[in-house]
Amino acid sequence: MSIQNNRLSPQEFENNFSDIHPPFEHIEGAVIEANRCLSCYDAPCTKLCPTSIDVPLFIKQISSGNIKGSAKTIFSSNIMGGACSKVCPVEKLCEGACVYNLLQEKPISIAKLQRYSTEKAIAGKWKLFNRKPSIGKKVAVVGAGPAGLACAHALSLQGVDVTIFEKEEKGGGLMTYGVAAYKVTPEFCKNEVDYILSVGGIDIHYKKALGTDITLPELQQKYDAVFLGIGVGIARRLDIPGEELEGVEDAISFIYNLRTTDFSKTPVGDKVAVIGMGMTAIDAATQSKRLGAKEVTMIYRRTENEKPCTDVELDLAKLDGCSIVWLANPKEIIGENGKVKKLVCSKMKLGEPDASGRRAPVDTGETFTIDVDMVIKAAGQIPFEELVSKSSLENKSGKISINKKSETTLKGVFAGGDAVNGGKEVVDAVQAGKDGAKGILEYLTS
Ligand code: SF4
Repeated sequence: MSIQNNRLSPQEFENNFSDIHPPFEHIEGAVIEANRCLSCYDAPCTKLCPTSIDVPLFIKQISSGNIKGSAKTIFSSNIMGGACSKVCPVEKLCEGACVYNLLQEKPISIAKLQRYSTEKAIAGKWKLFNRKPSIGKKVAVVGAGPAGLACAHALSLQGVDVTIFEKEEKGGGLMTYGVAAYKVTPEFCKNEVDYILSVGGIDIHYKKALGTDITLPELQQKYDAVFLGIGVGIARRLDIPGEELEGVEDAISFIYNLRTTDFSKTPVGDKVAVIGMGMTAIDAATQSKRLGAKEVTMIYRRTENEKPCTDVELDLAKLDGCSIVWLANPKEIIGENGKVKKLVCSKMKLGEPDASGRRAPVDTGETFTIDVDMVIKAAGQIPFEELVSKSSLENKSGKISINKKSETTLKGVFAGGDAVNGGKEVVDAVQAGKDGAKGILEYLTS
């Protein structure tokens, strides 16, 4: 058997892709956990949150049964607080900073508490914000991902009329199309986008791509300002022989297909190699296993110390039965009848630190070969350099340059999120969207 779909029963698919972080089922559980919080002064959990959510306040509100108040506290800082409670690497952010870690005790389950309040708000369609009357200004937002949605929501609250242009047929960006299905369901993503848009004053046009269906000069002409939250999306090539063989896929497309079709319709190999060790690589590896792949091997060119994923994510891959090979770099993919058959890897060792500050992998000259029928490339994404350069935006290898007010080198054109930083966490994109909205408001009212 090689690459094929429908490897498991409907029940097995359901079990494998059910929520890996079960929520609090009753308020009592949430209140008991909330009561553990010490309401620290100058709370380190808030400091480590890129959107500065007032964690002790929202937890205190939960402990007193004020769930609406806690949802409002969260959404005031992070309108995608629901999504972030499911996908944030909290072990290196708020929960990693919780003082309980210093006491060698389990940190407060901040994400689970945040999820409790935000899910209630989204499911109950609670109206927590009122939009100011229109100020007669129009802003175009390109991209309905976390940065674009956060920017649109913040602008709309201040009475700006916003139009979002999104190239896909649904909003949510990475949340909807790029993370493991067992972290967030498509229904949740849709409900969250609907909830954000329900504030009013935001029009959204789907299947409108920048450079194809709309152009930047058109938007500049029709709107008072433009925000570009176009993200990154092009998978980095391996540039090795055999990359064009049938069975070689990039992780972005693999996860996109999985998120846009039925699990049973997503093909996967018997023996899958995943190249990379970031969050996308982990998501591709674990989901390959959960689709029924017999063996999944993750290949990373450095050691565990330099891995970009967190320990929690790595444990997830290990618990799913994925094998890890450190200090290995793909050298060649060998095929038979046009299909992937083997992966040849160079054995690496660590040399001097590179520009990232991490010790660089150096080829030892030795190789090893593994049998595979599918290779998933998750060696990073690159920005839309051609698109950005065509639009005359100053950029560094496709990453749009902005000033402290999030404005690009084109007057009235602002940008933020992955399109600027090359790819960070969802919560960073939300903050970039808020920063963009602040810059735009200053621009519109000066
Ligand atoms: Fe509560 Fe931990 Fe934050 Fe202190 S650091 S306020 S205990 S969540």
